[in-house]
Amino acid sequence: MTTPAPSSPLRDIIGDKAAKALAKGLELHTAGDLLRHYPRRYAERGVLTALSELRHDDYVTVMAEIKKIESRPMRNRRGQMVNVVVTDGRGLLTLTFFNQGWRAKQLEVGQRGLFAGKVGSFRGALQLTNPQTQLIDEDEDESVGVEKGLLTGLIPVYPATAAMPSWNIAKAVRVALDVVDLGDDPIPTEIRARHGLTDLAEALRLIHQPDTRAQVARAEQRLKWDEAFVLQVVLAQRRAAAAAQPAVPRRTVLGGLLEAFDELIPFDLTNGQRDVSAEIFNDLARPHPMHRLLQGEVGSGKTVVALRAMLAVADSGGQAALLAPTEVLAQQHARTIRQLLGPLAAAGELGGGEVATRVALLTGSQSAQTRRANLLDAASGAAGIVVGTHALLQEHVQFADLGLVVVDEQHRFGVEQRDALRAKAPTPPHVLVMTATPIPRTVAMTVYGDLETSMLTELPIGRVAIQTNVVPIGEKPQWLERAWQRVREEVESGRQAYIVCPQIGQQGIGGDDVAEPLVSFTDDEDAPAARRPPAAVTEIAPMLAEGPLAGLRVDMLHGRMPSDAKDDAMRRFAAGDIDVLVATTVIEVGVDVANATVMLVLDADRFGVSQLHQLRGRVGRGEHAGLCLLATDAEPDTPARERLDGVAATLDGVALARLDLEQRREGDVLGAVQSGRRSSLRLLRLLRDEDIIVAAREEATALVDLDPTLSSYDGLVQAVRELVDTDRADYLEKA
Ligand code: ADP
Ligand code: MG
Repeated sequence: MTTPAPSSPLRDIIGDKAAKALAKGLELHTAGDLLRHYPRRYAERGVLTALSELRHDDYVTVMAEIKKIESRPMRNRRGQMVNVVVTDGRGLLTLTFFNQGWRAKQLEVGQRGLFAGKVGSFRGALQLTNPQTQLIDEDEDESVGVEKGLLTGLIPVYPATAAMPSWNIAKAVRVALDVVDLGDDPIPTEIRARHGLTDLAEALRLIHQPDTRAQVARAEQRLKWDEAFVLQVVLAQRRAAAAAQPAVPRRTVLGGLLEAFDELIPFDLTNGQRDVSAEIFNDLARPHPMHRLLQGEVGSGKTVVALRAMLAVADSGGQAALLAPTEVLAQQHARTIRQLLGPLAAAGELGGGEVATRVALLTGSQSAQTRRANLLDAASGAAGIVVGTHALLQEHVQFADLGLVVVDEQHRFGVEQRDALRAKAPTPPHVLVMTATPIPRTVAMTVYGDLETSMLTELPIGRVAIQTNVVPIGEKPQWLERAWQRVREEVESGRQAYIVCPQIGQQGIGGDDVAEPLVSFTDDEDAPAARRPPAAVTEIAPMLAEGPLAGLRVDMLHGRMPSDAKDDAMRRFAAGDIDVLVATTVIEVGVDVANATVMLVLDADRFGVSQLHQLRGRVGRGEHAGLCLLATDAEPDTPARERLDGVAATLDGVALARLDLEQRREGDVLGAVQSGRRSSLRLLRLLRDEDIIVAAREEATALVDLDPTLSSYDGLVQAVRELVDTDRADYLEKA
């Protein structure tokens, strides 16, 4: 037999039966899978498991001491029932063995052991029924057949199943560690030396069979590096490949649209807007495609930056496409851009400027006639700027010379969609991606790691800060009255208001073409079953119009309205013909009406942190102070309330993004920002392991620069291939 490799099936190493058990319950199929199945925690030989932390229905492995043993015949059947009470020194847990009379002889009061099973209860007391049992002998020399881990300080406790208890996994791992040839280390020797990392074989041995906590830490450090480094190598290779592609350089010209626009806009650009624009123009002028991420605080003026880039491309004879996540936002972008451009957007029309282009809009639910005209403008090149939703991705949409793709609010788009648009140009177009809210640096490095990043932090001057208050209607119902009154006062002084509800109507959760809120938090404790249904647009709007807001012009906006009606509602609100707009999160991203100054979010606890931050960015966008009220009946000191208090406490989008992400499990951190790339991270934590991620990125970039094909790094090539395969498998599963 040849030496097993990490890719060898487990059955070749530990036999059919154990391999089946590992495959069935734990999805472990190869030797590599098993070696990367790390202990969840480590039990210390002398330290008993806190029994008070056991939860009903969990599959647990506990270390406890036997306190009492009772044996009696079973009532309705033949055979013995053995009841064993074990303790951690405080709490008690009953182990019930049916038909295992011999346990009474095997077990002794005072002995310690590991007991594994599913936590159930009997007459109010927690119990394990027929648990798997592994005694720990105090006298090491006599512990025949006991695992090494049981004899030294630390006992690995693995995620396990009934068919494969933790100590059997430990046994299988030991075999794998002994026989599997790991091949070349994926992290090159120089890099390991520079960062004081142990080699892979040592790290795997230490994480599975440590003697001390320090060894576990050392192993984890190295294995986290693996995850960060291999991923960053893949991303560096992607950047390098993209940078090597040809693209048409798009240079700004004298006397063009951009210059005319700069003279037209009624405000001065912020320094940040200037700097980021310069970076972008620089990228656009190169014969390779730009791949840039534009991050910016809510209200920092990303649209103007993107528009200037689009104008530069139009000036050079090309076209720019702006891809928006919702119909409302696409419509608004087209409207805003036409407005900002004025005569510059009216080429071929009466009153069109000397230098001018056209702005086409393509959405899913336009009339056939409108669509035809816009398709024609896109295909003929008459439109220098084409704005649209997913509809832009359809096959029949054609461009004369697509030079730039701008993707707004990328968290709603997958990489595949970005690529679909990119494929509409003969040479790859330049790509600018904009995020709705800033995200922590390490998340950006991982999720958008194949893009260069620009950041807009400063808000335009003269912007007054938004004040945010939590309105706890559970404790203080009269505050809701006060909130309506505030809305009324704002309207009476000439301003406008948003009222946001989590739901459209009886039939379902709110949202737009893109459906549900990104997150639906269900804190297990306050079980949603017992709660009243969330506030709904179609119910709240008429209720307000007749009740607390009688006399005001109240209207609504939600994703199930026909596209014309949506556009109409937004247009009338923007024109000041609606005082109060009752809406779903369809207004979450990008909607921009400077005269709107107050927002009341109903059942605010139903929304995620970043979502609320986005939402409140809709007010306080002009010269008037903004007020955001978060109404909730969540109790004080619950996670839901803490989230809302967190939002109220700061306007710093990066801090809130962290808060948002910290409350999720790691897989969800990635999933929340963008789908994909979750399976490869086991130990690495994006928020906590910043040092490792930053260092690994530097090393990866330098290495790929020197040796793009990794020709002298076989171990790394192998690891990269495995990662790309799982990524792809993930993607296929989702499709
Ligand atoms: P976001 O970054 O959230 O997408 P927008 O691009 O929608 O922000 O800009 C927010 C508002 O600020 C818009 O009304 C825009 O016209 C305005 N704005 C943009 N840049 C400036 C500036 N330099 N000075 C004043 N107002 C600006
Ligand atoms: Mg925006």
